[in-house]
Amino acid sequence: MKEVILIKLGEIVLKGLNRKNFEDRLIKSLKRRLHKIGRFEVRAAQSTITVTPLYDDADMDEAVSCVSKVFGIAAFSRACSVEKDIETIKKAAGEYLEERFSEIKSFKVESKRSDKKFPLTSPEISIEVGTYLADLYPDVEVDVHDPEAVVTVEIRDSAAYIHCGVIKGAGGIPIGTGGKAAILISGGIDSPVAAYMMAKRGIELTAIHFASPPYTSVRAEEKVAELLQRVGEYSGRLNMYTVPFTKLQEEIRDKCREEYSTIIMRRFMMMIAEKIASEHECQALITGESLGQVASQTIGAIACTDSACSMPVFRPLIGMDKEEIISISRKINTFEVSIRPYEDCCTVFTPKHPRTRPVLKNVIAEQDKIDYIPLIEEAVKNTRLTEL
Ligand code: ATP
Ligand code: MG
Repeated sequence: MKEVILIKLGEIVLKGLNRKNFEDRLIKSLKRRLHKIGRFEVRAAQSTITVTPLYDDADMDEAVSCVSKVFGIAAFSRACSVEKDIETIKKAAGEYLEERFSEIKSFKVESKRSDKKFPLTSPEISIEVGTYLADLYPDVEVDVHDPEAVVTVEIRDSAAYIHCGVIKGAGGIPIGTGGKAAILISGGIDSPVAAYMMAKRGIELTAIHFASPPYTSVRAEEKVAELLQRVGEYSGRLNMYTVPFTKLQEEIRDKCREEYSTIIMRRFMMMIAEKIASEHECQALITGESLGQVASQTIGAIACTDSACSMPVFRPLIGMDKEEIISISRKINTFEVSIRPYEDCCTVFTPKHPRTRPVLKNVIAEQDKIDYIPLIEEAVKNTRLTEL
C-alpha cells in the first residue's frame, strides 16, 4: 500500500485548445515545487494528475502542503494506491481508513471504474467494499443518503485508488500561463497580497523594491525578502530587484513643494519600475493600491501616477477593504511579517498635507524642478539583484 496525491484539474479543463499548455505548466510547477521535498513522479492521465512518491519514507504531509499552494488545482485527495484486485482493495481500504473511521458515524462507498477491463462494475465494487468496511467497523453505519464520509474507489489504468474526502486546492490558473509582470513590493500588508492575487491568475512574478538607505535599514530589505519567500510558496521562486532610491527622494524633498512629494515619488517609482520590468520581459506592473486608502490612492492621484508610465498597471486590491486584504495576508502567512515595524521609503518622507486631488500639469511642473532623467537612469543601473 502506497499513498499518493490525486489532483483533479480545475478551471484549466475549460480552456479548450490551450488545455495541453495549461496542463504542462501545472505539471512543471508541481515538479519544481515537489523537488524541494523529495523525489516524486508527477503524471497526467484520464483528467487527473497523480503525484507518486518514489521512496517509502517520503514526507506526504509536506507534499500535500506543497500541492495545496500550487495554482491551477481546484481540488485534490490523498489516496492509497493498490493493485487492481478486489480482495486487495478491500483489505487496503480497511487499513487505510482506520483513523478516519474512528472519527465518523456513517459512510457510503462510491466507485468509478475507468478501466473497463476490471471484472466488477462500479455498483458491485461499492457493495463489496462497503460490506467489508461495515463488518470491520460495526460502529460506523452505511448511509447512502446523508453519509458523514464518502469513500471513493477509483479503478484506473495504472492502479486502484481509495480515498475519503476532497481537499480544496489553491484555485486559479497555472503560473506562467498569464505572462510576466513586476510587482512593486514594499514591506507593507498590501503588496504581498497583490502579488499573490496576480500569481493566482497565472502571472510569473519579478519583484521590485525601492530602498532609501540610510533612511531605510537593511532589516527593512530583509523583511521584504522574507515576504517574497512566503509569496514564493504560491508564485514559485522569484527574483528581487532593489532600487537605490535615496537620491531621488532627497531631490524631491529639497526641490518640490511638499504637498506634491508623494505623487512625484510614485511617478518616479513607476518610471523606474517600467524600465526594469521591460528589461525582464514583463508586460505589466502590479501594485497593492486600494482606492481611497491613503491620499496617494484617490482616483486623481492614481491617474497622475499612471500617466508616468505606459505599461498597464494591475491593482488587484483596488476594490477591497483593509479587512479583506488582511484576511488574505493571514491566509498566505505574510501578515505577521508585514506588521514588523521597519520604515518604508514611502513613509520616511511623508508630507503633512498631501494633495488628494492633484492636477497633472501642476504635478509635472513640480517634478520638472528636478533633473530626474539621469537620476532615474542611475537608479536603474545601480539596481541590485537578490535571488531568493
Ligand atoms: P503596502 O501595504 O503594499 O505598503 P500601502 O497601503 O502602504 O501599501 P503605499 O505605501 O501608498 O500603500 O504604497 C502603495 C503601493 O506602492 C504598494 O502597495 C506597493 O505596490 C508600492 N510601493 C510602496 N512602497 C514601495 C517600495 N518601497 N518599493 C516598491 N514598491 C512600493
Ligand atoms: Mg506601504
